[in-house]
Amino acid sequence: MNNKEIKDGVYGSFGGAFLDDRFTSYLNEIEQTFNRLKKDRKFINELKRYHKEYIGRQTPLYFAERLTNKIGGAKIYLKREDMCHTGAHKLNNAIGQILFAKYMGKKRIIAETGAGQHGVATATVCALFGLSCVIYMGEEDIKRQEMNVFRMKLLGAEVVSVKSGSQTLSDAVDAAFEDLTNNLDDTFYLLGSAVGPHPYPEIVKYFQSVIGREAKRQILKKEGRLPDYVVACVGGGSNAIGLFGAFLDEDVNIIAAEAGGKGLETKEHCSTLELGKEGIIHGFKCLLLKDEDGKVAKTYSISPGLDYPGVSPEISYLKEKGRISSVSITDEEALKAFGMLSKYEGIIPALESSHAVFAAVNLAKRLDKAKVILVNLSGRGDKDVEVVYKKHFAEV
Ligand SMILES: *Cc1c(COP(=O)(O)O)cnc(C)c1O
Repeated sequence: MNNKEIKDGVYGSFGGAFLDDRFTSYLNEIEQTFNRLKKDRKFINELKRYHKEYIGRQTPLYFAERLTNKIGGAKIYLKREDMCHTGAHKLNNAIGQILFAKYMGKKRIIAETGAGQHGVATATVCALFGLSCVIYMGEEDIKRQEMNVFRMKLLGAEVVSVKSGSQTLSDAVDAAFEDLTNNLDDTFYLLGSAVGPHPYPEIVKYFQSVIGREAKRQILKKEGRLPDYVVACVGGGSNAIGLFGAFLDEDVNIIAAEAGGKGLETKEHCSTLELGKEGIIHGFKCLLLKDEDGKVAKTYSISPGLDYPGVSPEISYLKEKGRISSVSITDEEALKAFGMLSKYEGIIPALESSHAVFAAVNLAKRLDKAKVILVNLSGRGDKDVEVVYKKHFAEV
């Protein structure tokens, strides 16, 4: 997909950097660092060492044989990002960006978090590098995610409660940018998904692309050919673009599984690719969920990591071009997949990843046994067990 529509962080009509001038020099500095470090052997070797010795890469590509047999259709392979340290793909990005901060001489790290997963990943790498860490989190989210707040504190981070707006993720991002304007000299903003102003989406893709590179090599070894389909769940889009990147120029079908929440006919979902319209949020253009007044819509999903009204500009572009397709998976369907993978494979998936698993299962049913589907299992479900228990099994 090397075409003229993708250049300098602009993907067709999406992407860009829509922040005021105060951020220009900061974003330029990061972009220059990115361009320099991509070619720096020392940096690349250091990143590889952390991949291997800290995150636990490479992660396995696992043939889900019992699940496949149960369904009786296409073969389902799982890329086991749930086996990364801290339980999800998020650390791939956090480790990469904190190395940037180190090479840039920044001493203070800030980040936003919704459910707390990115906050925990950021606090983890700050502990690892001995850097001071401030996490912005909406007051509402703090109440809902007590244990993750505690984890961050345990790891040495300061958690700042954001009391503006709806007191959730969007407000936390705004607060982090506000902090940045006051501390441009010594602070690095460690952004959690393939979103935000250029060059962040490219940087996050770069650090998550290890998923696709490994998976491609692994499936070629196991099957002697590329998969027919690759599937990933999409919140901001980092695990998805990390996997998809390796297959964009290949004859492979690419499917993004979005959170359908309580159904597309309700307003309680976050199916940005299905129902979003071009708009600007947090300094970039993407497919965006808006309400009747044209304001950013309130979104909902049982899986906190998918609950965001915007999405990666590159994924927005790929969807509009027809290079990828999207499916909307409801809470109920994700819960079904959560149960199936636990029962048939002994793997409890994150609720986010369960959306991708359901999409794959549904697809596998309709396909011939010779076909191959590769699913990104973005994270493990230990963090979600309590929610699922309370919702479904409390009275059993
Ligand atoms: C955060 C998270 C996601 C969603 O984020 P993306 O940037 O869309 O990948 C998906 N799965 C898990 C396990 C997560 O923690």
